[in-house]
Amino acid sequence: MSQTIVEFKEVFKSFPSEKGPVEVLKDINFKVKEGQVVCLIGPSGGGKSTCLRSINALETIDRGDIEVCGIHYGTTKRPIHKVRQNTAMVFQRFELFPHLTAQENVALGIRKVKGLSKKNSMARASDLLIRVGLTDHQHKYPDSLSGGQQQRVGIARALALEPKVLLCDEPTSALDPELVDDVCDVLVDVAKSGITMIIVTHEMSFVKKISDWTLFLEHGTILEQGPTQELFASPKTERLQQFLNKVH
Ligand code: ADP
Ligand code: MG
Repeated sequence: MSQTIVEFKEVFKSFPSEKGPVEVLKDINFKVKEGQVVCLIGPSGGGKSTCLRSINALETIDRGDIEVCGIHYGTTKRPIHKVRQNTAMVFQRFELFPHLTAQENVALGIRKVKGLSKKNSMARASDLLIRVGLTDHQHKYPDSLSGGQQQRVGIARALALEPKVLLCDEPTSALDPELVDDVCDVLVDVAKSGITMIIVTHEMSFVKKISDWTLFLEHGTILEQGPTQELFASPKTERLQQFLNKVH
């Protein structure tokens, strides 16, 4: 039986607004087992990114407990450095440094987080870029790469940190439609390596292909969660049925 690697217990989170605090996560509970791929789906504004960002300690929570690789972080100041040694994030808008080449973008994180020398980090970056299919593009700057290629650099950069949990926030939403499949294929490949992944996405065919377990979030609440095939085949709530009809 594989171990639980990420767990949310009764997590609440609000953001301040002019009209007072707005609750964006309301009693979120879920578990991710080691090696599982979990997808978060649901309409915009439902709290998917906030969930993901909380795992990576980019957001603090108001109540409850989040456990990532045995580290608990509730509402108090968390051991961010330790958390970040376990997780890495792939962002919707790639977030690459424009003044660094693909290889330098990937190498930078390895040097900073892993403390490798420049030479070793560049060699490792090169290996990772080959793995994501960018053998011939390593010395290019982001603005001369396609969106799909930039995102593959983003994936290589995240993998370079050797995370136990890879977090992806809408990794294909900024891409032209014809580039989406390429990036999805790379992520499916990454999943086969056995790494735990938590992915926010609107690509339902990708969810069905990659995900073991899926959560449907709306208005800060998990309306449904379950094994992906089951969730798609027989949604229990009308809201999920409607959502799946719309996005299909
Ligand atoms: P999703 O990723 O599902 O679209 P988000 O987690 O980004 O949803 O957002 C959930 C809610 O929280 C939204 O109503 C959004 O406007 C709000 N929100 C997100 N980030 C912030 C922030 N930094 N400050 C205030 N409100 C925020
Ligand atoms: Mg989002």
